[in-house]
Amino acid sequence: MGVRPGLAAVLVGDNPASQIYVRNKIRACRRIGAHSETLRLSAGTTTDELLRTVERLNGREEIDGILVQLPLPTHISAQRVLAAIAPEKDVDGFHPVNVGRLVSGQPCLAPCTPSGLIEILKRSGIGIRGRRAVVVGRSNIVGKPTAMLLLAEHATVTVCHSRTSDLPSVCREGDILVAAAGRPAMLTREHIRPGAVVLDVGINRIRDAAQAERFLGHDTARLDRFRKTGSTLVGDVHPRHVAEVAAAYTPVPGGVGPLTIAMLMSNTLAASQRRIPASGGPPPHGA
Ligand code: NAD
Repeated sequence: MGVRPGLAAVLVGDNPASQIYVRNKIRACRRIGAHSETLRLSAGTTTDELLRTVERLNGREEIDGILVQLPLPTHISAQRVLAAIAPEKDVDGFHPVNVGRLVSGQPCLAPCTPSGLIEILKRSGIGIRGRRAVVVGRSNIVGKPTAMLLLAEHATVTVCHSRTSDLPSVCREGDILVAAAGRPAMLTREHIRPGAVVLDVGINRIRDAAQAERFLGHDTARLDRFRKTGSTLVGDVHPRHVAEVAAAYTPVPGGVGPLTIAMLMSNTLAASQRRIPASGGPPPHGA
């Protein structure tokens, strides 16, 4: 289309998980031929210094997407920093303007993990319209935007959280069940409607041998790997129960996670279209 999409990732401090996430995003940019750069700032960076960095990126024509990797050190106001990103470059979809556009059904840059869930359903030929969807988790990053995107696809949506009473019976109403609570294998057989489609967003590292035995006892290969390395990743849904009860499900690792990066690339490409004079207007969400 005559433009090379450009993504700038801003990494503050030395959180090891954040470093891996940013590295994977930059690799994805290379794979698709986009321009990418990582700005590494020290853990002592102030909110004002970070705001100035974002302002500079806002002003650079060849940068289409700005990603400030979360979490930020606690002394920095994440809210102020995210609000300083130009909405048309907000490829994470966390800016209040994009949140408002998503909620009011206007074209926007939507958060990547939730858009990835919709993409998985669509590409798997799983209908959303008219289905009952239950989302466990109400964070601004995953739960709420997922609920909004499912609603936009005409699902009937229920959002659950840590104060929901009788969670199992609410979850069992879901033809589509989305788990985004950040609690290892929290959703078990009693939460899953037989034949439901289960999307497991949770990424939880477990190191406890008894837990590993309980969650992965059916999978000797994984259990052996756990014994060798001393840790493993599990989702928010019990891996054996979901395999037995659901019609279809996303495994952890390897299910939802890679889609998050794919959707970031999709958002960066969509954002770059602002540089194509004929394209006009803001990009559609989940392009
Ligand atoms: P969060 O901690 O911000 O939110 C968790 C939500 O779950 C809260 O709304 C809380 O009310 C709810 N919750 C917690 N305990 C509960 C319980 N016992 N019953 C019902 N609801 C409960 O987490 P987040 O940022 O939304 O992330 C959720 C999970 O998704 C984490 O494991 C995170 O690592 C993972 N995640 C994965 C990706 C990906 O790319 N796959 C991206 C973002 C987050």
